[in-house]
Parts: sequence; C-alpha cells; structure tokens
Amino acid sequence: MEFTFDTSRETAEKLDRADGLARFREEFYLGKGRIYLDGNSLGLLSRRAEQSLLSVLDSWREHGIDGWTEGPHPWFHLSEELGKKSAPLVGAEPEEVIVTGSTTVNLHQLLATFYRPEGKRTKILADALTFPSDIYAMQSQLRLHGLNPEQHLIRVGGRDGQTLAEEDLIAAMTDEVALIVLPSVLYRSGQILDMKRLTAAARERGIPIGFDLCHSIGAIPHQLHEWGADFAFWCNYKYLNAGPGGVGGLFVHRKHFGRMPGLAGWFGSDKSVQFDMEHHFTPAGDAGAYQIGTPHLLSLAPLIGSLEIFAEAGIGPIREKSLRQTRYLMELVEEELAGMGFSIGNPRADHRRGGHVSLVHPEAVRICKSLKEKGVIPDFRAPDVIRLAPVALYTAYTELWEAVQQLKWIMEEKDYERHEKKRGVVA
Ligand SMILES: *Cc1c(COP(=O)(O)O)cnc(C)c1O
Repeated sequence: MEFTFDTSRETAEKLDRADGLARFREEFYLGKGRIYLDGNSLGLLSRRAEQSLLSVLDSWREHGIDGWTEGPHPWFHLSEELGKKSAPLVGAEPEEVIVTGSTTVNLHQLLATFYRPEGKRTKILADALTFPSDIYAMQSQLRLHGLNPEQHLIRVGGRDGQTLAEEDLIAAMTDEVALIVLPSVLYRSGQILDMKRLTAAARERGIPIGFDLCHSIGAIPHQLHEWGADFAFWCNYKYLNAGPGGVGGLFVHRKHFGRMPGLAGWFGSDKSVQFDMEHHFTPAGDAGAYQIGTPHLLSLAPLIGSLEIFAEAGIGPIREKSLRQTRYLMELVEEELAGMGFSIGNPRADHRRGGHVSLVHPEAVRICKSLKEKGVIPDFRAPDVIRLAPVALYTAYTELWEAVQQLKWIMEEKDYERHEKKRGVVA
C-alpha cells in the first residue's frame, strides 16, 4: 500500500484541522478520557438524539393519547416520516423505506414474504461468514416450511475464511435457489460485497435478493432502488447512533408494492383505514405494509435527531472521511506496529472496505482488555479479531494516532499478559 501519511502527531493534528466534518464531533457525548472506536457496534449518543427523545417524552407527558396526532413529532406517521428521511442513506425512493422492528425481526418479515419455495427452487442462498442471527432466522423459516436447513440453506464460504468472492456467490445462484440473503459489509472483515453486481446476477436468474445493511448504513452510500434489489433490512444503533435497541429499518423495492406481507399486523394497514377496525386487512401501498404492531416510540425517537445530523453532513462526505480515516489507521498500524504480530484482515482497496479496520492478532482478546483500561474502546470478535471503527461524525485523527500509540505501548510492555485470555459476556 502506498504510504500517504506520516506517523507524526503533527500530521494527525493537521488532518483534524482540515476535517470538513469536525464540527459534528461536538454534538456527541464522547466521554472524558475515552477514545471510542466501537461505533460500529453501538454508536454514541448525540445531543440531538437526546433532544428528540426528550421531545417525544414531552409529547407523552403533555398530550397523553393525543400524542399520536399532536406535538412536534406526531407518532402516527413517525415511522413513515423517518423512513423517508432514511431513504437517501440507502438510495431508495421515500416510500420504499419504513423504520420498524429490528434487524432480525425484519429479516423474518422479509423471509416470510419473499421466500416462496416452489418445485425444485427451494433453497436459500447465504454465506458462511454472515452474522449468526441472520442464519438462525433463515434456518427457522426453512423449518416453518417443513424443510431441513441442512439441505436447503446454502452457505458459500470464503476462500481465506475472512472474505468472500462474488464469483463464488454468483456460481451458487443455481435454479434450485428461491431466495438470496447477503450482507452488504461483512461484520468481521469489513469487506464490502459488490451489491450492484450480485443484484444484477440474481435478477438475470430471476432470483429475489436482499441485503443486511447493518454494517453499511450510515457508513457507505447505497443505490438499492437503481440496482433493483428486492429488499434490505438494518439496525439503526450502529453507525446511525439511534441508541441501544433502537428501532431498525427495511427497504422493499417499489416493484413489490401491493404484495401481501408475510407477517401481517394492524400497523401495516393503509393508514386511512387502520382505525376502521375491519377484520379484512388492507395493507399500505408501500413499504409501510411491513410494519406489524405499534411502533416502539421511545426507541424510535432518538433517530429523529440522528437523521438530522446525517442530512446535514451528507453520506458522501461521511464516506470520504471514513475511507481517509481507515486508510490512515491501517498505515499507522503497519508503520508503528510492524513485527508485533498484527495483520490486517479487511480488504485494502477503497471500494472493498467498509467502515472498520479489522486487526488480526492471536492475543486479540487480551490486547482488547488492555486497550479498554487505557480508555481506548475497541471491539473484540472471537477468536482473534480486534475491530477498530473510526466514525466520521465523531472520531478525530489525533484519537486514531493516540490509539495506535497505546497499542504500541501495550505490545512493547507486554501489558496484555496481565489479563485473562477469556472474552467477556458481551464482546
Ligand atoms: C448487529 C447486527 C445484527 C443484529 O440484529 P438485531 O436484530 O438488531 O439484534 C444482525 N445482523 C448483522 C449483520 C449485524 O451486524
């Protein structure tokens, strides 16, 4: 890799001064003495997200039941409003996105809708490196159809155990495949899959395809509508900073509007007739149809403030800074930690890497414990991965510089040896 930065602290400071997104950093609760590099697991609270949560609480206090239609953010249309505001982040039309459910629940909804085994087309195509919850959801949906997941769930493996090859995924798109579900960015290695290419290949073969955007939404731009992806789903608590357990989101392409959702509930109704209380379900004519029950308003509220920040910053500049920061971090690691047993597990090329750097080291678990003691918050993924995520909205270059200096000290002093080689309950 070309070395474009030098390792001095002055360079880090210079990069901070030239950072066009630096003003957003003040909006976040960064924590004193803390360098937070775990925003890809749980984003930090911003003042605006806090304010929007307080404002929804106010509406409840002031209006009681009338909060559904009154106050600054009337609850009845809030999921649709936030869907519209999320649409630019995924490259969707405003009616193609709804904020609802959670990643796993939304995947269940979409599988219940789009997985239609017929004749010899019975299989779901996924990958061996994806997040376990997605696999559990697919396995259980196969069982609901009376099918054995051992035979009907295809998991394409990586050639190196960390990344996937699109050719391998496309080769597995046979006429036995009824549905494809893949991640946009792999949660461990940070590899971006070429969603455009995969979608085109699936469409050529007439197979519906959907993506899990948990590790890409808020970090990289998407063009779901233009690509013609059938569906997508995500959480809003990682790069979107909508809070622990924050309500998730989903995309359904316009070409599927009017279809009956697999899992129906009254909040998926056409809003004009929802309160007619008919036993005949009339689904909304857009992605709103995929809602099930009453929105979890207090877990939805922080997203109002959070999306305002994204609208102001713009996903283009966010991606640009994120790429610059991950490149800077990789170069610091290679220069400063050379010969200390680290290797970089994420792809190097800009168009192949997502928002985090994946450091592989046999002592990863103990190194993470030392880092945390030093106020640097990483993320450990068993057995040997340290994920470090610079978040464009709130991470400074000097923090990355500082984090690498801490790592260097931990390795030189063998500080990690003081710790037990065992991961925490939440890692
Ligand atoms: C974080 C994450 C999830 C989490 O699912 P929840 O239902 O929100 O708990 C699922 N898939 C991927 C790829 C993730 O990164």
